[in-house]
Amino acid sequence: MIKKRDIRSYTKEELRKFFEENGEKAFRGNQVYEWLWKKGAHTFDEMTNLSKSTRAFMDEHFIINHIKVDHMQRSNDGTIKNAVKLHDGLVVESVMIPTPTRTTACVSSQVGCSLNCEFCATARLKRMRNLNPDEIYDQVVAIDKQSRIYNNRPLSNIVFMGMGEPLMNYNNVLKSIEKITGDEGLGMSPKRITLSTSGIPKMIKKLADDQPKFNLALSLHSAIDEKRTQIMPFNEQFPLADIADSLKYWYNKTGTKVTYEYVVWKGINDQKEDVDALVNYCKIIPCKVNIIEYNSIDDPRFEQASQQALNMYEKTLEANGIVVNVRRSRGKDIDAACGQLANKE
Ligand code: SAH
Repeated sequence: MIKKRDIRSYTKEELRKFFEENGEKAFRGNQVYEWLWKKGAHTFDEMTNLSKSTRAFMDEHFIINHIKVDHMQRSNDGTIKNAVKLHDGLVVESVMIPTPTRTTACVSSQVGCSLNCEFCATARLKRMRNLNPDEIYDQVVAIDKQSRIYNNRPLSNIVFMGMGEPLMNYNNVLKSIEKITGDEGLGMSPKRITLSTSGIPKMIKKLADDQPKFNLALSLHSAIDEKRTQIMPFNEQFPLADIADSLKYWYNKTGTKVTYEYVVWKGINDQKEDVDALVNYCKIIPCKVNIIEYNSIDDPRFEQASQQALNMYEKTLEANGIVVNVRRSRGKDIDAACGQLANKE
C-alpha cells in the first residue's frame, strides 16, 4: 500500500511537478491547489474539474488533513472560543472577538508552549508540537465563517495571540500568513495581521530581515529585568537590552513601530519606578502601548492592579507623548481571554 502524503504540505509548484511526472498537464496542479486553499475542499471528490480517474488517483496518494472545530463556546459578549481538533487528535484553541467595527481572530501557533510565563495558563501545558501552516490557516477560515454567520461580515483582523510562541514556529507561521494574505488563499491585507511575541531577539532580527508587511507586538509586562525575569523566566536568556537591540534592528529594516503589550499586577509592576522604566523603554523605537487587563488563572500571586495604578500608567505615558490604549478583556466567562487558553473543556 502507498503511504499517503499530506497534500496540504505541498507548494503549488510541487503539485504541478507531481502532475507532470504522472503524465498529466501541470495546470492540474493549479486547479488542485485552488481547491485545497481558496475553496477549502475536504475531499478529492469535490474537485469536479478533475476527471473521476484523476480524483481516484489523488485519493490513492494523498490525504487532505483538516482541523475540526470540536467544541464551540459563545460568551455573553459575543466572543466565541473554538476547541480545534487536529488530525492527530491534539487540541488547540482559537477565539473570535467581535467589536462594533471589526472581527478579530486570535489563533494558536503551537500545541502548548515552551515558554514559561508565570501568569499564563497555556504555559502550564507542555509544548507538544508546532502547528503546520494549514492548521493555522484553517483556524482563520473557521473564524471567518463564524463571523459571517454571527456578525454578518467577514473576518477583518488576525492576532497571533493564542497558544504558543509564533516566533518559535517561524517558518510555518510565515507560510500560513502567506496563504492568508495570498490571492490563492484568503487575500487578507497583512496590515490587519499582528504577530505577538514574548521577545526572542534572534528571531525578531530574522523577521526584520524577511521584511514582513504585518505588525509586530511584544509582550513586555515589565521594563525592569529582575521583575521581568520573575514573571517571564526566559527573560534571563533574552534580557531587555538584547530585545531592545533586536527592536532597533527591526525598526531600521522595516520602519514599522512595535506595540508593547503590558499587564499591570498589584504589587508586581504597579509602582512609579515601573512606569518610568516603561517610558524609557518606549524611547528605543517608535511604539504604542496596549495595557491589557489581567485574566485570572487562579494563581494567588497575580492580581489585577488598582484602577489608580492603571490611571498612573495612562497619564504618565500620555504625558510623555506615548500612545496608550487600555483594553478591556473579552470572553472571560468562557475562559477565552488572553492567557486563559488551556484546553479546559
Ligand atoms: N507567545 C506570544 C503569544 C501568546 S500570548 C506572546 O507572548 O506574545 C498573547 C498575549 O496574552 C501576550 O501578551 C501575553 O503576555 C498575554 N497573556 C498571557 N497570559 C495572560 C493573562 N493571564 N492575562 C492577560 N494577558 C495574558
